[in-house]
Amino acid sequence: MTTGSIYSSSAASSNILEVNHLSVEYAAASGTVYALSDVSISLARGQILGLAGESGSGKTTLGYAITRLLREPAVITGGQVLYYPSDATQPVDVLQLTPSQLRAFRWSKLSIVFQSAMNALNPVLRLSTQIDDVLRAHEPQMSAQQRRERAHELLRLVGIAPDRINSYPHELSGGMRQRSIIAIALALSPEIIIMDEPTTALDVVVQREILTEIVRLREKLNFSVIFITHDLSLLLELADKIAIMYAGRVVETATCRELQRQPRHPYSYGMLHSFPTLRGPRHRMTGIPGSPPDLRDIPPGCAFHPRCPLAYESCSTIMPTLRRSAEETPDQLVSCHLYDVALSSERVPTNADFATSYEAAYAQSTFRRR
Ligand code: SF4
Repeated sequence: MTTGSIYSSSAASSNILEVNHLSVEYAAASGTVYALSDVSISLARGQILGLAGESGSGKTTLGYAITRLLREPAVITGGQVLYYPSDATQPVDVLQLTPSQLRAFRWSKLSIVFQSAMNALNPVLRLSTQIDDVLRAHEPQMSAQQRRERAHELLRLVGIAPDRINSYPHELSGGMRQRSIIAIALALSPEIIIMDEPTTALDVVVQREILTEIVRLREKLNFSVIFITHDLSLLLELADKIAIMYAGRVVETATCRELQRQPRHPYSYGMLHSFPTLRGPRHRMTGIPGSPPDLRDIPPGCAFHPRCPLAYESCSTIMPTLRRSAEETPDQLVSCHLYDVALSSERVPTNADFATSYEAAYAQSTFRRR
């Protein structure tokens, strides 16, 4: 397996985090689950990278692998996670950190905001105690007074009145609990925050408030974010760049603009047309027929081929690799044979081609279009 970076040296220097060829397996009694296979992504300094895909695409496993929070039976079977500190020339290989180095790395360089605030917060401890615990563990030189001041400052930062600091989690609204989790994640001013579906359990109004808060904080504090969600429409409003995942692999990476204008992978097109547009011209919703594969038994060749309306012979036998899709969009990488001149004599598909193919696929299937 290759272990080098897939990024050019100039791109690498502006990146704060790179994941190179990362693979994760779960040893289950019913067979090996290939949760991540050869995944490479990069996070640029100060940017928001969105990870999108259906359930089981590997996005949460990727977030946990980067933070080294995976527990047995999950095993990282290959690859690298490189963190580029702003004050050093050499990257840090996160997967090689010793337990004490890892403790120092987590929270102060990279922190994580989990999916459910109610589960992430300790229900029997006041907010003040939970923030204080983090500061005491990681900043032992701080006095009690300094920790109290910092806790108040953190709450103000995320829009919670400091007089709520002695509340228990159940005394806070869902939005306030999620803001509290973000405050705790910011406690040591990390350079990277991984957010795993941070707004899923919230109603749309509170969701909007939290997203606005994340954007405001990112601009104020200049941290970088990996934002994990199945909601691609949300990422299009929030992220700078998006990586689309399917069956444990990245199938396309692009800026939001590139992805909205011309998705290259048939799966990306299907995802983009699974929800109505809020702004701009309306498009016809197509959805994606079928279901994601069982990760113990991933289809050979391109894993998407049983659902892909543009699949042809080579797709079921040859595995595509991430490659540049077009000269004019050098940062838009796609894993699809349609962009490999050695395998496809067809011209590269346009949105109209994708739409026609999906229409034809629906005409032949029993899947009801929404
Ligand atoms: Fe579809 Fe083939 Fe491209 Fe896979 S490689 S997305 S099956 S056209």
